[in-house]
Amino acid sequence: MVKKRKIEIPMPRSYFMCIECPQCSSKQIVFSHATTRVKCLVCGKQLLEPTGGKAKLLEGVKVLERYGVAGG
Ligand SMILES: [Zn+2]
Repeated sequence: MVKKRKIEIPMPRSYFMCIECPQCSSKQIVFSHATTRVKCLVCGKQLLEPTGGKAKLLEGVKVLERYGVAGG
């Protein structure tokens, strides 16, 4: 008899979000748990700082919208 093991899937509260650069107001989609520094595609300003968990939004960066996480 094979016992079925219950598989536990870790569910980090991660999501994608649309953020706005405080410097040039351009918008881009980023992952909430980004593991690399995210820079503005237009002006190069750093927008997100990785922390090992949820990435930290740098000062002035606005979250405009969050996308698609079930139960989030
Ligand atoms: Zn910018």
